[in-house]
Amino acid sequence: MGKSYRYKCEECGYEEEFFVGGSYMARNYNRRVEEAEEELRSAALYGKFGETIQHMMKYERDKVYINCDTDLYQCMDCRSFSVQMAKELSLNNSDFTLSVEFRHECPSCRSNLLRKSRGSITFCPNCKKFTAQLVSMGKFD
Ligand SMILES: [Zn+2]
Ligand SMILES: [Zn+2]
Repeated sequence: MGKSYRYKCEECGYEEEFFVGGSYMARNYNRRVEEAEEELRSAALYGKFGETIQHMMKYERDKVYINCDTDLYQCMDCRSFSVQMAKELSLNNSDFTLSVEFRHECPSCRSNLLRKSRGSITFCPNCKKFTAQLVSMGKFD
């Protein structure tokens, strides 16, 4: 299942649509997601994210949830939108929940990206004003 976001800015005329998630439009999507998830899983198993996570991966693997689906992100600095893999790992057990989300780097300026799944208004990547509106959001197979 994929999702689409369409942003439009009334100030400068910027308009762009983004597709995230799997669909017939994204070739090999499932395989790429699986590979990314496997990579995270083995990094966790080798202790890359600390001992707690490593321990959970060894003994309570079924409680570890890994998400590498794509989502829409926006740069905090240059305001460019980009579609990135989420790369997050979370653990749920009776005592605590823990989640790790990887830092996402802007492909153009290397600043931090923020996930853009909520909020209907945001900064316009073109004129940089807080005037870009989410005009439509769709779901597709
Ligand atoms: Zn940027
Ligand atoms: Zn604009």
